[in-house]
Amino acid sequence: VIVARDKSFLVRERHRRIGRSLSIAYSDAPLKIVGGEGTYLIDEDGTRWLDMVNNVCHVGHCHPRVVRAAQTQLARLNTNSRYLHDSLVEYSRRLAALFPDPLNVCFFVNSGSEANDLAIRLARAYTGNRDIITVDHAYHGHLTSLIDVSPYKFAGKGGEGRPAHVRVAEMPDLYRGRFRYGDESAGRKYAEDVRNQVAALAAEGRRPALFFSEGILGTGGQLTLPAGYLKEAYAHVRAAGGLCLADEVQVGFGRVGSHMWAHETQGVVPDIVTMGKPIGNGHPMAAVVTTEAVAAAFANGMEYFNTFGGNPVSAEIGLAVLDVIRDERLMHHCRVIGDRLMEGARELATRHPIIGDVRGHGLFNGIELVRHRETLEPAASELEAVIAQMKRKHRILLSSEGPHHNVLKIKPPAPFSAEDCDYFLNALDDTLAALSN
Ligand code: PMP
Repeated sequence: VIVARDKSFLVRERHRRIGRSLSIAYSDAPLKIVGGEGTYLIDEDGTRWLDMVNNVCHVGHCHPRVVRAAQTQLARLNTNSRYLHDSLVEYSRRLAALFPDPLNVCFFVNSGSEANDLAIRLARAYTGNRDIITVDHAYHGHLTSLIDVSPYKFAGKGGEGRPAHVRVAEMPDLYRGRFRYGDESAGRKYAEDVRNQVAALAAEGRRPALFFSEGILGTGGQLTLPAGYLKEAYAHVRAAGGLCLADEVQVGFGRVGSHMWAHETQGVVPDIVTMGKPIGNGHPMAAVVTTEAVAAAFANGMEYFNTFGGNPVSAEIGLAVLDVIRDERLMHHCRVIGDRLMEGARELATRHPIIGDVRGHGLFNGIELVRHRETLEPAASELEAVIAQMKRKHRILLSSEGPHHNVLKIKPPAPFSAEDCDYFLNALDDTLAALSN
């Protein structure tokens, strides 16, 4: 391997050899990261960067138990899932045990996109319907079938617009949407638009196959859902014969603190759950969990075979991740630190009027910046400056989110400590104070 002393060489070669649609983070001063440990990334000079972006390395960068599990199994055997293997069966039992009945059947794939694509096939096989309802501004994956259900992509730059088989439901935004904090029936009112989409389909003699939603809206701007939203929305979709999917790719595995899965904060049981990112702590694996009935409808004679999905290395890694979440009590930790972070950010809001809203569950949070608390004018360029300064001065890595690019997105590895949290809050205080000077 060539070792480039000069970062501009790597940038130049990437531009030449790697598809240009892939961006580089902090492109004005890109980082060359050569190591990871817990909540920190380490660059080529040995500088440690506090990583508040990476929810994939969920149990911490290079967690020794996960690394050991991968190394051990890779040295022993890696083959496809058509052979009998203890760890695959053990892993499916452990994963299914994290869901209530009737969610008992697992499919193993390699990415969140593959999981969501398979979910569409499952729903179509079960319902006999083709149409899909999705929530505005959502992202569900990079496959053709998922760009189709991702308004974040199809309605944005380079997008080709909403496909005919997809309906978009209004995003339930309690901060700047039609129904806001304090409106006890906001969940029901927002879910009315799911009913409207079902009705619009019915008017054309069609019915939904599947309703897609996350338990907290990521690309929508780290939005927690209004109470009752998913319950009502699911009822409308199911009344028309459709299935309901919870996309837990971003938010699953205890990150929300109170529950293992974000959709549980809404008190619903989906028909299909998709998981990815944190499931393998960075190893490419993903899963779909569904009901016996849905899985049976899909077993129509055509085999579902996935070359890499459920291989013994992935199964061992998946087991190690579940062990670490349990043994290090990471779900509880996410709740305690997430509450500390949001409480601290709300205290900052009393002194920094630019903070319009602080929200989240556990360690999946958004801090929304506005120029005026009345008009809610998004402070997007200000947020960009904040992120740049947090990196430059405090060595903290952060990103922005939301349709207006004015939401500070927070989703660090779960072991993010009380000290990390306080360091972040002090740095944000310092940065916002400098901003208003
Ligand atoms: N669903 C959601 C909610 C996601 O955030 C993502 C990835 N950002 C995906 C699906 C797709 O996952 P992957 O990139 O692993 O295909």
